[in-house]
Amino acid sequence: MMDQIILTYIVIMATGGVLQLVLAFIGYTNRHVFAGTQTFAWLSLFSAIYAFGHALELTSTTGEGVMFWVVFQYLGMPFSAPATLILVLQYIGLDKHINRKTLFLYYLIPLLTFLFISTNNYHHLFYKHVDFVMNHGALLLDMTVGQWYVVHGSYTFGTLFVAALFLIWYWIKTKTKHWKQILTLLIGVLLPITTSLLYLLGMTPYGIDPVPIVMCFTGLLYLWAIMSTHMLTVAPVAKDYLFESMRDAVIVLDLSRKVVEYNPLASQLFPALKNGKRIDDIMMYNGEILPFHNSVNEDSVNELEWKDRDKYYQIRISPIHKRNHIVVGIAIVINDITELKQVQKQLRELAYKDGLTKIYNRTYFMEKSKQAIMENSQAQDCTSLLLFDVDHFKRINDTYGHFAGDDALRHIVSVTQGLLEKDMLFGRYGGEEFVLLLPGYSLESAAEAANRIRATLEVSSFHSKGDALTITASFGVAAKRNISNPEEALSVLAEKADLALYEAKRNGRNSVYVEINKEFREQGNIYSVK
Ligand code: GH3
Ligand code: MG
Ligand code: MG
Repeated sequence: MMDQIILTYIVIMATGGVLQLVLAFIGYTNRHVFAGTQTFAWLSLFSAIYAFGHALELTSTTGEGVMFWVVFQYLGMPFSAPATLILVLQYIGLDKHINRKTLFLYYLIPLLTFLFISTNNYHHLFYKHVDFVMNHGALLLDMTVGQWYVVHGSYTFGTLFVAALFLIWYWIKTKTKHWKQILTLLIGVLLPITTSLLYLLGMTPYGIDPVPIVMCFTGLLYLWAIMSTHMLTVAPVAKDYLFESMRDAVIVLDLSRKVVEYNPLASQLFPALKNGKRIDDIMMYNGEILPFHNSVNEDSVNELEWKDRDKYYQIRISPIHKRNHIVVGIAIVINDITELKQVQKQLRELAYKDGLTKIYNRTYFMEKSKQAIMENSQAQDCTSLLLFDVDHFKRINDTYGHFAGDDALRHIVSVTQGLLEKDMLFGRYGGEEFVLLLPGYSLESAAEAANRIRATLEVSSFHSKGDALTITASFGVAAKRNISNPEEALSVLAEKADLALYEAKRNGRNSVYVEINKEFREQGNIYSVK
């Protein structure tokens, strides 16, 4: 006949099992809230297996039956300890290292425990000796522990103990407002530890494992915490964690501009940050207060270039409102926009620079030239435009390869840049054609400048594959006075310079030709085109 006490145990355990299943379901339905809810679901499932297994163990009347349900319990019980530790770590935001691989390590010993107990008959590593005794009408396991039992026991106690330490540490360190949740978790960890210690010391009644009963109680506690503190659905501790692990630096101020809260990234940026300090005393840069305006009624966004760190930051300052729109504080969010800035700079350069030679591209050259002419137009000055094209450039490409051709182009650019004078604009007109605008230059002085470039190019030899190459170019020059329409003037100048350049090519290259219809004296290598 089964004792009334045993029967009560069984009922409580089965009820506890159902409760744990409910908790597992709640955890599962909230599994996307934060990583901990999923772990909570697993933990509850492990506990349910443990409770049901234990209840069914007590109802068994044969030795095989008891053994079967004992083994069944080990599908849950050993796994619940590491699950508890993982839950705690996730709850307090120390779960950066928890991933599929490390999860396996956490559950490795429980897995082996299950393996060893289910095959115990072959090696007796878990139980050295198994017997059964009748006690209050229930058939109970009477065993002597084997080596692996010690490993399993130490691991279970060890992980729960570490979990408890983490909770206490977090509680003390953060003085968290969510102490009810922490306390719930702490009881959920400590109660099974103490009761199973009592059990191991033989201090529990009837020699029955009380842990599943205790778990019924902790289950109720969890249920209360979920209902009253929204432990799983709101998970404020997880929100703390979110704040801690944000990729932006966040600082919260009260209305007197004193620091109330900040995350680790913020203290990395400003090591002087401290609760209670005034922000204006902390965030100095080069002796200047950072751009934090005093009014806090609207959002403001500023950019800050931090030269000695080679960084750009975006600083967003927003008022923090209560529900009734009253401002209660100030939030400062700082994010690193250095990469964005670099990309912007590259894009800007791409827009106006030629990729190969890094001088202005044709479009930007025209734009700049238009501006330069407009600025110059009142002076009734003459403006000149100069085009030049490299002679027989194809040969360089064909003989030395395209890369050598590119080098030659850079060489030409650097030689020309060495001869540029103030106000001259220099751009790449096309493949191996270049253009210069010479504001304020007469046709004659522009032709002289062109000839200087031509002559210097001719004598500054370019080296490729051990050969010294002489690079020459042909020049065409055009000039115009009293420009009223810069855009039109530019295209006329370019057209005329191109014609002159064509003449230079036609007449033997390596020479400077000036536009037709202008009187121009033959002068060394400078020719006029008649
Ligand atoms: P000439 O002007 O004296 O009549 O002879 P050329 O050989 O310079 O004549 P052309 O204008 O026909 O050839 C220009 C060559 O320049 C053709 C093209 O492959 C080459 N080229 C254009 N752009 C680049 C470049 O960016 N890099 C290299 N390596 N070659 C280029
Ligand atoms: Mg050419
Ligand atoms: Mg050409």
